[in-house]
Amino acid sequence: MAAKRRLGLITLWVPTIGTVIAIATAFIWGIGALEIGLLIGMYVLTMAGVEVSFHRQLSHKAFESKPWLRYFLAVAGCMAAQGGPVYWVATHRRHHVHSDTPEDPHSPHYRIGKKGGERMGRSKGLWYAQVGNMYEGLPTNCTLFARDMIRDPMISRINRSYRFWIVVGLLIPTVLGGVISGTWLGALSGLLWGGFVRMFVVHHIYYANGSFSHMYGGQPYDNKDFSTNNPVFAVPTFGSAYQNNHHAFPRSALLGFRWYQPDVGMAFIRLFRWLGLAWNVNVPSKEQIESRRKRVQHA
Ligand SMILES: [Zn+2]
Ligand SMILES: [Zn+2]
Repeated sequence: MAAKRRLGLITLWVPTIGTVIAIATAFIWGIGALEIGLLIGMYVLTMAGVEVSFHRQLSHKAFESKPWLRYFLAVAGCMAAQGGPVYWVATHRRHHVHSDTPEDPHSPHYRIGKKGGERMGRSKGLWYAQVGNMYEGLPTNCTLFARDMIRDPMISRINRSYRFWIVVGLLIPTVLGGVISGTWLGALSGLLWGGFVRMFVVHHIYYANGSFSHMYGGQPYDNKDFSTNNPVFAVPTFGSAYQNNHHAFPRSALLGFRWYQPDVGMAFIRLFRWLGLAWNVNVPSKEQIESRRKRVQHA
């Protein structure tokens, strides 16, 4: 478990250092279409990997797909470097079971301190949910929360090669940067912007689901936790920031229930279904969505 935590901290801080270097070099060399393009392209690939695969398909079984698509998406999820699929799924399911209690792996409200469960203040809680839990949080029991993932031959194989896929996720933008620009500097730029900056940005935007989206935003559903629909992070998290909707209907492939709640993750799933690559897409009926809404907003 110590090794897992060490790897978690490496994948947290190496991209942070890489981002500082990237910004420093941008002042010297500037940044252009290559850097922005690789950043966005790798962002979309790995955010989709985390949100569409790790979250909706693997953790919640919100839809089924062709095995090769499931494999491809899970590999893209590994490239985000937020943990292998087994640990990611287990931690996420634990978040749902114990949402905003001390047992939640990354609540901004409660944690298990030295003397047991403790309430945190706003800024301390946000820091803990975003980053601090990786230092102090109790590790998740994967056998308890993700037994199905461990027993899934495809997922456990991908899980074993998690580190390899992180490296591949860094090599793709490096090679593309080098080939497109035809220079070594372009390769370095690709590594920095499509690799480290992208990883840093995906980390902190995605982790906002556990921090800011359990603190700020609307609460149409009374979930007995602090989950909110956070409009600021909605688009960049591909819809995952609708945490209040999500905790009300965790098995739903759809997270944005209203016309003004864009859901990029669901757009991917709809596209896969339209192409005949995905099926059994789990979406609650309009009546179910409405009947669970509470009248009084959270106090
Ligand atoms: Zn949540
Ligand atoms: Zn979830």
